[in-house]
Amino acid sequence: MEPSVALRPETLDAAAAHDGATPSPHTIADRLSAIRARMDEAAAQASRNPADVTLVAVSKFHPQASVRAAMQAGQHVFGENRVQEAAEKFPALRTDSPDMRLHLIGGLQTNKAREAVRLADMIESLDRPALADALDRAAQTQGRLPDLLVEVNTGDEPQKFGVPREQADALIRACRQRFGDRLRGLMCIPPAHEDPRPHFRLLRAMAHTHGLSVLSMGMSADFELAIAEGATLVRVGTAIFGPRPTPATTLAP
Ligand SMILES: *Cc1c(COP(=O)(O)O)cnc(C)c1O
Repeated sequence: MEPSVALRPETLDAAAAHDGATPSPHTIADRLSAIRARMDEAAAQASRNPADVTLVAVSKFHPQASVRAAMQAGQHVFGENRVQEAAEKFPALRTDSPDMRLHLIGGLQTNKAREAVRLADMIESLDRPALADALDRAAQTQGRLPDLLVEVNTGDEPQKFGVPREQADALIRACRQRFGDRLRGLMCIPPAHEDPRPHFRLLRAMAHTHGLSVLSMGMSADFELAIAEGATLVRVGTAIFGPRPTPATTLAP
């Protein structure tokens, strides 16, 4: 299932929303430096250190060439939301650029946990006990455990991934106990048609309660607001890589 966020038309960068053609390496480099400048400015406005906010370039549905162009422009952290797509795209990139980091940010099926543990440097979408079990088992077998974020469904939207608000504390505590410091923080995707700020604030308050330092929040349309509310990771796709082709055309079985 594709989280509804991927198709939110209002997240499309107006300048990028042309015909869906793959942007040139030059365009990607320009957009990246513009985003980095806006991030620095948002951090400065909030009296925060720009170095405390990391850009995750969300490359889902975009070709390996676009990822390479971003790498050549100095981008090292990437986000993908499907394990299969990440498995096809990233191992070769990692060989070329060993300091690359891959974040898995999409809803994760339990039966993909092993592959996710093998591929990811961070999994941002831990949202239920059964997935924690599966990740734990995979980590035991493979002797490797990525960093983890618990995804909170701050809007309690039925169609969305993320642990419901009222179950979040219990899941966070259980994951803390089980994964220790590998549980780094929290992630959220606010409802599409609402002011995201109350959701960002809620996530920050939860992280504070649990002594967690990483807050993954903010996308193309709202990353500056997220930085103002304390984001340490922003996940930006469209504003860097342009509009995504629809899943229906890219994900034929
Ligand atoms: C696709 C996606 C993003 C990036 O969204 P844009 O609006 O293109 O910046 C961020 N987070 C998650 C979880 C996503 O699936």
